[in-house]
Amino acid sequence: MMDLVAPAGSPGALKAALAAGADAVYVGLRDETNARNFPGLNFDPHHLREAVSEARRFQAQLYVAINTYARAGAWDHWKAAVDQAAEANVSALIAADMAVLDYACRTYPELRLHLSVQASATNWRSLQLYRELFNIRRAVLPRVLSLSQIARLAEHDVVPLEVFGFGSLCIMVEGRCLLSSYACGRSPNNYGACSPAESVEWITTSQGLETRVAGILLDRFTPEESAGYPTLCKGRYRAGDRIRHVFEEPTSLNTLDILPQLAEIGIQAIKLEGRQRSPAYITQVVRTWRAALDAYQRNPERFIPEGSWSQTLSELSEGQQTTLGAYARVWR
Ligand code: SF4
Repeated sequence: MMDLVAPAGSPGALKAALAAGADAVYVGLRDETNARNFPGLNFDPHHLREAVSEARRFQAQLYVAINTYARAGAWDHWKAAVDQAAEANVSALIAADMAVLDYACRTYPELRLHLSVQASATNWRSLQLYRELFNIRRAVLPRVLSLSQIARLAEHDVVPLEVFGFGSLCIMVEGRCLLSSYACGRSPNNYGACSPAESVEWITTSQGLETRVAGILLDRFTPEESAGYPTLCKGRYRAGDRIRHVFEEPTSLNTLDILPQLAEIGIQAIKLEGRQRSPAYITQVVRTWRAALDAYQRNPERFIPEGSWSQTLSELSEGQQTTLGAYARVWR
């Protein structure tokens, strides 16, 4: 049975995820040590301890993501974050930076370590190295791998694998995208936020609603169009004589259709993206995935996603559209 790993950016979202049936919930601390460092999100050390107790009450696990890369001269922030996670007695720490993994592994040998997607480990030798050096117990795979590549990776059986099942997509290799850093000088990889809120502008103009990051025009919406949170990879730009989504259209990953293949490969956990989402969103997504995983468990041979599940997830998706992303990619 695959574990369902849900996001929570607030105590309300945590309760929603647990009540909807998550097996594990991942959270971040209220600073740049996690990759969702947005105002009003995340947990302070007191709330983190409460979150661990709350998860135990539901017999669920509580993971903490300390998955950005320590900035030169600011190591103490990342060290303190690991200390806080260990003191709160979290079920696992999700990390990418070798310095963070090394410190956690040496200082808290009992603390379970998961390799973050931010590490972008895409081959078995890389996973083996992380396991040998830091005793990682699970790896979250980057969303750039196709299903057949994941299957080949799993054959080596280096560590249990977790893959993304639903939510917003990064189209660049995780942990290495520099678009936000290029635009506003802050990188999601060590500041923890792509398009940090202080760089984002929403401006109503006579030509429509404009979104800008660090002054750069990303998109302009007609009254009929809904505007999502602006990220540089999902802007509409002029290329040649056309204005279009040059990198990626707003869309969400949804792997409900390939759930049986993921199970057959031996994937240990399905991760849902969205620590920036509301408790209402978390409730609907987790409830839908709980129903799907339970249905698969009851009858693997006859599993077919119900129409209502796909409809719910489509309505919650960016641009109301979903994709299998790189899982269905045929080129290498
Ligand atoms: S610009 Fe796009 S691909 Fe890069 S970190 Fe932001 S959301 Fe991800």
